[in-house]
Amino acid sequence: MIDRKYWNEAMEGLTLDRVRSVQVERLRKQISYLYDNSPHFFKRKFDVIGVRPEDVRTWEDFRNLPVFRNKEEDRLAQDESMERYGHPYGTYLCAPIEQVVHIYCTSGTSGLPTFYPFTEQDMRLNDECWARSWWRAGLRPGDTVLHGFGLSMWSAGVPVVRALANMGCRPIAVGAEGGLERMLMFANLTRPRALVGTPSLAELIIERSPTILGKPAAELGIKTIVVAGAPGAGIPEVRKKIEEGFGGAKLFDCSQGCWGLANISCDSPHYHGMHVISEDTAIWYDIIDPDTKKPLPIEDGAVGEGVITSFVHQAAPAFRYSFGDLIQVFTDPCPGCGFTGHRFKIVGRVDDMLNVRGIKVYPSGIKNVVANFMPRVTGEMRVVLDAPGPKVEPPLQLKIEHGSGLDRDSRDSLKVELENRIRGLLKVRCEVTLVPPESLERSTLKGKLIEKTYENKP
Ligand SMILES: [Zn+2]
Repeated sequence: MIDRKYWNEAMEGLTLDRVRSVQVERLRKQISYLYDNSPHFFKRKFDVIGVRPEDVRTWEDFRNLPVFRNKEEDRLAQDESMERYGHPYGTYLCAPIEQVVHIYCTSGTSGLPTFYPFTEQDMRLNDECWARSWWRAGLRPGDTVLHGFGLSMWSAGVPVVRALANMGCRPIAVGAEGGLERMLMFANLTRPRALVGTPSLAELIIERSPTILGKPAAELGIKTIVVAGAPGAGIPEVRKKIEEGFGGAKLFDCSQGCWGLANISCDSPHYHGMHVISEDTAIWYDIIDPDTKKPLPIEDGAVGEGVITSFVHQAAPAFRYSFGDLIQVFTDPCPGCGFTGHRFKIVGRVDDMLNVRGIKVYPSGIKNVVANFMPRVTGEMRVVLDAPGPKVEPPLQLKIEHGSGLDRDSRDSLKVELENRIRGLLKVRCEVTLVPPESLERSTLKGKLIEKTYENKP
């Protein structure tokens, strides 16, 4: 059995000053690497702003650089590399193409894939980062782990199977494509100690196990569940449902999969965000103002657009890369476990931001408030816009599914409570229309939270 601890002890014990100096040291090397190996992307970007690699000497110099990569820039860089080099891996590819040994992708908004290339060294970094997170979740070499993420081309697919095996675990790689019946059959035969997948897969297993296997999910023997790819673990009712449904299993939330990112929640009964355990390899909590794109102070509770930078990646490094996620950063020690490093929560999408008389509101922020009313609500909701945002006149219109079995009086008081709670917490006046359970369309992908009625008008 592999006797190795995946614990970033060296970084966790350091003061913030020391962490920053390690990061700056690595960044300076990385910036020279990007500049020298990507003439049509990174060098060009630096040249446009008139910065040379040696000009970036401090953490502040680094944070004042603009966003270099986002989905749109990636799309253009892919088109250009197709023309110049005959491959779709982007002009930001810094490693020789012969050294690219793994590719995965995300589906872009246009439906065309955005590719992420990796060298063998990058894949080892991924292995290490997954192992750091799983170690914190209690996975150990020798554990059987049921793999339920989509396998095909997805960052949590084949690479996670590889990382599990390299950690010394035994992945049962059924994958989401295998279907629920097959997944449950293998779970029943191999008795995995852990499950990795999306929160909705965990919920589906609870729902369907009694019919498919004739026994509840609680009897599968799964003790640890590590989810990624969607919110859920941070929503108290969802978390309670999953943990109880699996007979007291522990649920962890992580968000990573490339560039040296490793971020995972702790096992405190309350959710305190993802704990950053990759300060030496990559960060995501570098926040900027979504409007001005200027750096925001990284202080406890601050919300901004998260910018990802890898300090060590080879193939196509994230460097000042924005996915358009809004994140909330925490710098105080974790109230649950005492962790002293950075923590963060993903609180929404920059594109979804609404401005209600000067107050910035995020549909996912509203959904988090609504979810606390479960089971009196189902958790499904929509913000209804009758004109294009982001400016909205109050009251903000919300459709919220009530739970089953509520009489008229209970529904009336629920409506008032929801409106008051949202106003109290988010400072926004809204008008709630309760709709029956299951009446809002379910999406298998990331939940759609805005209904644009103006698009249907002639
Ligand atoms: Zn904690």
